Amino acid sequence: MEDIRYKEQLLCSRESKAEDTVIEAGGVKLGGGELAVIAGPCSVETEDQIVAIAEQVKAAGADMLRGGAFKPRTSPYDFQGLEASGLKLLLKAKKETGLPLVSEIMDASNLDLFEDIDVLQVGARNMQNYALLKQLGRTNKPILLKRGISATYQELLTAAEYVLSEGNPNVILCERGIRTFETYTRNTLDVAAVPVLKGLSHLPAVVDPSHGSGRSELVSSLSLAAVAAGADGLMIEVHNNPAAALSDGKQSITPEEFAELMKKIKKVKSAIK
Ligand code: PEP
Ligand code: MN
Repeated sequence: MEDIRYKEQLLCSRESKAEDTVIEAGGVKLGGGELAVIAGPCSVETEDQIVAIAEQVKAAGADMLRGGAFKPRTSPYDFQGLEASGLKLLLKAKKETGLPLVSEIMDASNLDLFEDIDVLQVGARNMQNYALLKQLGRTNKPILLKRGISATYQELLTAAEYVLSEGNPNVILCERGIRTFETYTRNTLDVAAVPVLKGLSHLPAVVDPSHGSGRSELVSSLSLAAVAAGADGLMIEVHNNPAAALSDGKQSITPEEFAELMKKIKKVKSAIK
């Protein structure tokens, strides 16, 4: 990748650190050949919803629970998330299941609220919010940085560099699909991002096939492709009633589908070992 500028100077580059970075979040390891599966709804909706889904994904073998409390919605009239009370419901689900938590932060002024959240997600829309990235770089929290909808690999890596250069080495890269001319899918999942990012950088790379396709029927195939490509993890939207979900129901699989998928993921992972 000759066209990645200044790559040898970047803290995220393989040139500056040859061995894989392994990030520990709530007892789960991300990177270095392990496969971590993060599952849960797009949004935290109610206590019953998040606790039930947490129990179901845990039983199926998920390693971490996701759930948005602060939601970056395209329209201001769409459900914006339960905010602070959503984070409290996530903590209840963690108490019930022991699953570490991943949730999106949109504004550094909310950092205090995220104290007990294990991984802070920076969404695609905020990948280039450099003020936010710098603030997160001054914490020691694991940061899951999602690729912007039109971001190149270089732009994703230099966004990660904003966190690293402030002193926080705990960045997980996330491919979540990019915008192309195709309209059948919500985004085009770029599976090549996995070997490219892992070649250029020592940071863990995970794949989100849910936003990467926008269609629940594609999530299983894309998850398996990502594992085969060497992803360090998957982040999958799971809802116990997708038709009634307050966000992203169309791309959410059911807990039963997730349990089936986990069996296949294990087979693919062992096939490439
Ligand atoms: C999400 O994870 O629910 C989300 C909003 O993702 P993205 O930032 O990738 O659109
Ligand atoms: Mn979503």
